[in-house]
Amino acid sequence: MRKEGIRMSKIYDVIGIGVGPYNLGLAALLEDTELDAVFFEKTPEFVWHPGMLIERMDLQVPFLADLATFADPKSRFTFMNYLYEKDRMFPFFFHQHFQIPRQEYNDYLQWAADQISTIRFGHTVVDVIDQKDHYQVVAEETATGEKVYVKAKHVVMGTGNEPLVLDGMDGFPNEDVMHSSRYLFEKDHLLKAKHVTVVGSGQSALEIFLDLLEEQERQDMKVTLFTRTGGLFQLDQAKFAQEMFTPGYVDYFHQLSLDQRKEALDTLKPLRKGIDPDTLTQLYTKLYHRTAGGENARILIQPMTEVNDIEADEDGYLLHCRQWQEEHDYTYSTEKVVLATGYKPHIPDWFMDRFQDAIEWEEEGMYKVSRDYHLQFKDEREHHFFTLTNLVHSHGAGATNLGLSVHRNVHIINTIAGRTVYKNQEDTSFQQFSMKHFN
Ligand SMILES: Cc1cc2nc3c(=O)[nH]c(=O)nc-3n(C[C@H](O)[C@H](O)[C@H](O)COP(=O)(O)OP(=O)(O)OC[C@H]3O[C@@H](n4cnc5c(N)ncnc54)[C@H](O)[C@@H]3O)c2cc1C
Repeated sequence: MRKEGIRMSKIYDVIGIGVGPYNLGLAALLEDTELDAVFFEKTPEFVWHPGMLIERMDLQVPFLADLATFADPKSRFTFMNYLYEKDRMFPFFFHQHFQIPRQEYNDYLQWAADQISTIRFGHTVVDVIDQKDHYQVVAEETATGEKVYVKAKHVVMGTGNEPLVLDGMDGFPNEDVMHSSRYLFEKDHLLKAKHVTVVGSGQSALEIFLDLLEEQERQDMKVTLFTRTGGLFQLDQAKFAQEMFTPGYVDYFHQLSLDQRKEALDTLKPLRKGIDPDTLTQLYTKLYHRTAGGENARILIQPMTEVNDIEADEDGYLLHCRQWQEEHDYTYSTEKVVLATGYKPHIPDWFMDRFQDAIEWEEEGMYKVSRDYHLQFKDEREHHFFTLTNLVHSHGAGATNLGLSVHRNVHIINTIAGRTVYKNQEDTSFQQFSMKHFN
């Protein structure tokens, strides 16, 4: 793919900051339009959550949530075209499964990234300066430390999420106490241990626990799982529940007051927090088969347990735990720990330095975002700062879901272009969420 040099004198239509699946989709949809874009990504090449690309694990949304299909099923960047180009149409046809392997999704994204001319890998955005009718973006080339200064009318921040590690659980050697995002990088070290404890109640915790159970077939190792939730509960994947991940629901959610939105997010917890039913079935089946001949399960799964602190001792680590229902505090000894304690939005420091006082906030950490994903500035402006990051409070549970990524990008592209470049789907659910249609 031929990449044009960056032109510092030019004002681009848009600059993308960070290239995960969200901004990659934006770059793909912009590629064949009249809009001029540049995207900066700090890593040297595209890779999607590399520490969690565990074999046998599937994407949690159907393959149609690719980079382009919802905007343009005929786009060259669809997953179907990837299959076609890779000669995998027949295996996919016979596999008959909408959920594709995570590793295949990553390969698809890399294939798409290779064909997109506007992405500059190995460039970290270190500053964005408001120039009153455009923005100046400063990116630093990782390899040389050299800075490039590029101007654009609009910017789109797609900096994703970063690992969330609770206070008191950081500062230990990575190979002993690690966040789940580093799991595959540290797995060789983990497998040297006689006892590994996974902490967390979500999908990542279960995937790692299941993977360690597979390893137990080959080596003598005890595996423990502590979950804070009342049990190993599954994500609600019922059809009508899934309608909360439609553009129609986002329209509804966005116009609610902040209190109503918080209440709605609480109600929607079963859709957001929980484990894929297939993963739970795999785990249960594994344990059932293992114990069928009377063999010991060789695991401990303890729900309702908070791990509040970690302390190093001569055999490894002591976890300070509390079974919250019985209000029982205890310590638990283990050799290694995997913290599947989640993620938080990654908002770069320069963003707060430059924009904290210029934009509207709904509450601490919750900036005010328009329906078409641009930040609400205190002054009126036509040059927009869009964000794909930290949108749950403004756009609902679907803000971190790949299924709505194309929908978001279509909103942004149409706003930037000032015309309908791509059609967004109307009438997306059977349920009506607002009373306003009665008026
Ligand atoms: C393990 C895991 C599995 C998931 N699986 C699913 C799933 O199956 N289905 C689903 O719907 N959702 C899933 N999600 C949730 C969500 O869809 C993904 O996290 C998705 O990757 C989010 O995309 P993104 O583009 O916002 O961010 P990211 O993928 O996090 O990408 C952000 C990028 O920005 C770059 N960056 C950050 N700061 C800068 C900077 N200053 N300059 C340049 N680059 C920068 C980073 O290097 C990174 O590449 C999953 C999340 C995780 C953690």
